[in-house]
Amino acid sequence: MKTRYLIIGAGPTGLGAAYRLKDLGESDFIIVDQNDWIGGLAASFVDPNGFTWDIGGHVQFSHYKYFDDAMDAALGKDGWLMHERESWVWMKERFVPYPFQNNIRYLPKEDVWSCLKGLIELQSNAKNKPGNFKEWILSIFGQGIADLFMLPYNYKVWAFPPEEMDYQWIGERVSVIDLKRITENVVMQKDDLSWGPNNLFRFPKFGGTGAIWRSIGQMIGPDKIQLNSKVSKINLSARRAQLENGDSITYDKVISTMPLNLLLNVIEGAAETLKRESSAMKYSSSHIIGVGLLGEPKKDLSTKCWMYFPESNCPFYRVTLFSKYSPNNVPDITKHFSLMTETSESPQKKVRAESIIAETIDGLLNTGLIHSRDQVCSTWHYVAKYGYPTPFLNRDGLLRKVIPELEKLGVFSRGRFGAWRYEVSNQDHSFMQGVEWVNRITAGEAEQTIWGTH
Ligand SMILES: Cc1cc2nc3c(=O)[nH]c(=O)nc-3n(C[C@H](O)[C@H](O)[C@H](O)COP(=O)(O)OP(=O)(O)OC[C@H]3O[C@@H](n4cnc5c(N)ncnc54)[C@H](O)[C@@H]3O)c2cc1C
Repeated sequence: MKTRYLIIGAGPTGLGAAYRLKDLGESDFIIVDQNDWIGGLAASFVDPNGFTWDIGGHVQFSHYKYFDDAMDAALGKDGWLMHERESWVWMKERFVPYPFQNNIRYLPKEDVWSCLKGLIELQSNAKNKPGNFKEWILSIFGQGIADLFMLPYNYKVWAFPPEEMDYQWIGERVSVIDLKRITENVVMQKDDLSWGPNNLFRFPKFGGTGAIWRSIGQMIGPDKIQLNSKVSKINLSARRAQLENGDSITYDKVISTMPLNLLLNVIEGAAETLKRESSAMKYSSSHIIGVGLLGEPKKDLSTKCWMYFPESNCPFYRVTLFSKYSPNNVPDITKHFSLMTETSESPQKKVRAESIIAETIDGLLNTGLIHSRDQVCSTWHYVAKYGYPTPFLNRDGLLRKVIPELEKLGVFSRGRFGAWRYEVSNQDHSFMQGVEWVNRITAGEAEQTIWGTH
């Protein structure tokens, strides 16, 4: 088979590239994906008991008009439900509104003081440039907030010690510190919430997040997407991709959205130095446990979207009240609700796959999210081997070398694990990385997102 544009991966990045090509009137392209579904990590599944699950709670934050228009086109203006982004931290047997540092007044007095003390001590410390994420946390949040929340929570999320991570990726993602405001909130007993009428997100009425990408796939054309088609080799001089099922595809241009380290290993004749470098690329896996429940959420849970869990009394770092995102995520909203939990894994933080569901249910009981095991009527377990691209030390130095080197060889690696840059790896960024690649190849436009900071 021959094609002008070969797109490896039918996740948001690959679909973004195809959507843009179609938009430009180009029809000589093909997407291949190893999965038997469209959407990659942004897909959704229905379990045998009728509960719908995402691979972790997907919330749309859009930074782009082109992406917004594509979303409107995918599900129509009426295909969505709007929500306020209400998020909380559970610790010390209570909920603390997010951002945590602005609401420390909810904590026991001695913890409020240790947080404030840490922040005050920072004022007199010498300001050295942090060498890693742990040092950055300590230099911004002080010892108290670091010990109570930032260090344990980040270890739970990333599955690597923060001292093995960089911090330049943070940008707008972690709200930083305003000592005056924090003190005022404590003294005046003021709430400082990250949600409100101006902080909304939208979620598909039906079918979970995956409904978006299935619809985009339909718009691109199902005949343009070959599923169950894993690329096992790429011959650069012949411009030919070999599939595991025996087929091969010759191309003029190729964009790959598979993990960059795996890509380096399927390219025949890729420089050994590049392959060796790929061993430094760290990533964590995500165990998503969906728990379908009888009854309704407790009162103090019912308005929340998602919650963070820094403590060790549960394996998960985040739980989403997924039946709030859409009542259609459960079989019968008058009888059911659903919680979706996320637990990270790495070689340094192992998860016991055989017991993680039981540990998760214990964790839901320990944290008071459910009151009885008898409420559980369905469980679903999905492991995303490549879940989070870790911002490892000197990540950007390595990427700035490997990705352009590959481009010289005619291979463009883009997307969540194709570009390995967590801060630009949500659905909107990923989709736009695909779109911008097409704009570059067809019109010479500079790509903005791949090396961007938000
Ligand atoms: C736990 C979790 C929570 C998330 N929460 C949010 C959120 O709240 N909001 C948000 O916007 N985003 C969220 N995301 C991110 C979102 O899922 C990604 O932005 C998006 O899926 C990345 O798209 P992609 O196409 O780059 O990669 P992927 O979705 O990973 O797609 C890559 C595709 O390449 C295919 N592939 C890999 N190797 C091969 C091969 N050899 N041959 C053929 N095909 C191959 C894979 O099968 C896959 O379908 C979350 C992700 C995770 C894991």
